[in-house]
Amino acid sequence: MDVLELTKKLISMPSVSKDSNADVNKVCEDILSAAGFEIERKEYKDEHGVLKANFVAKIGPGSGGLAFCSHSDTVPGQEEQWPAFDPEEKGDLLYGRGSCDMKGPLAATIIAATQIDSSKLKKPVYIVVTSDEEVGLTGAKFLSEESEMLRQNRPEQGIIAEPTSMIPVYSHKGFATVTVTAHGRAAHTSTGLGESATLKIAPFMADMAKFNEKMMSDEQFMNDAFIPPTNGFNMIITDYETPFNVSASKTTVGLCFRAMPDAGTEEILAHIQERADAYGLDVDVDLVDSLYCPPTADIVTAALELTNLPEAETVPYGTDGVFLKNVIKELVILGPGDIKVAHTIEEHVPLAELHQAVDVYTGLIEKLCM
Ligand SMILES: [Zn+2]
Repeated sequence: MDVLELTKKLISMPSVSKDSNADVNKVCEDILSAAGFEIERKEYKDEHGVLKANFVAKIGPGSGGLAFCSHSDTVPGQEEQWPAFDPEEKGDLLYGRGSCDMKGPLAATIIAATQIDSSKLKKPVYIVVTSDEEVGLTGAKFLSEESEMLRQNRPEQGIIAEPTSMIPVYSHKGFATVTVTAHGRAAHTSTGLGESATLKIAPFMADMAKFNEKMMSDEQFMNDAFIPPTNGFNMIITDYETPFNVSASKTTVGLCFRAMPDAGTEEILAHIQERADAYGLDVDVDLVDSLYCPPTADIVTAALELTNLPEAETVPYGTDGVFLKNVIKELVILGPGDIKVAHTIEEHVPLAELHQAVDVYTGLIEKLCM
């Protein structure tokens, strides 16, 4: 099977995140085990009881090695608007849900990893496939905690095969959300007995508005490697639809920003906590950190050589890498297709990039594992 055939086969098997991805994974596992890969499957049932499948496939001796990572779930097909699950070649493009995000890239990793002469491997090659990437990176988090294969022998290098138009990417932003809650006492304002949670949290919000101005102007909170270099700090508020003439019993402010390497993530979170403490507010932090591989790392150099490009880039979107970095030391994002058409109707991947991806991934295995 070539990369085009395999991509079409995977597209024609819908695996929208709300449904199971087990059948798609089984097709991939069968191809890999026929080529001599050892398979470790890790499954869970999601909150609706739907089976979600993840696996790690390994071939080759020794320690370290190179892992190719993809997710096999997709966003909804919107198939009433286009034939999402009927892959179609038009000119030099292949259309279908998942063609670029990311069944095409996944197929390219499988074809590359199964066409090499595995008897020449000095280090192992891995294929890592996750579930639920599109709905919170759940599979990557689960697999990075549960996979003995990855935890016992952390691969030195990895490719996240998300679509980058075959440009090596060494860093992406993370995402921090902070929920800050004030508690008051609900009462009709005519009684004088109420205590407004909204008035209690208001000075904190004023502090955050000032802090935002500082983050927008102070270099320590920026990173010029990204477009934009700022962190997109945002604030929302809810008093749970309290009427005008009632004091709010509970008011919640939501803050979020895109965490960047070397851009003061810890300082930002510490400042928010300190101001919230000053007003007696409750704080809940959820940080999905950024991804960063030194641009001088061997895997970046190898990827640039194989793609004939002068330098690696950054992207503003997140990937499974934020969890897989716990088990794979250096991760670069590199895959066929343009992220701008991911999640759209008429999602497509250039045929030339699918074939290029197979060649580049094969080259990476030869350079880094043979
Ligand atoms: Zn994706």
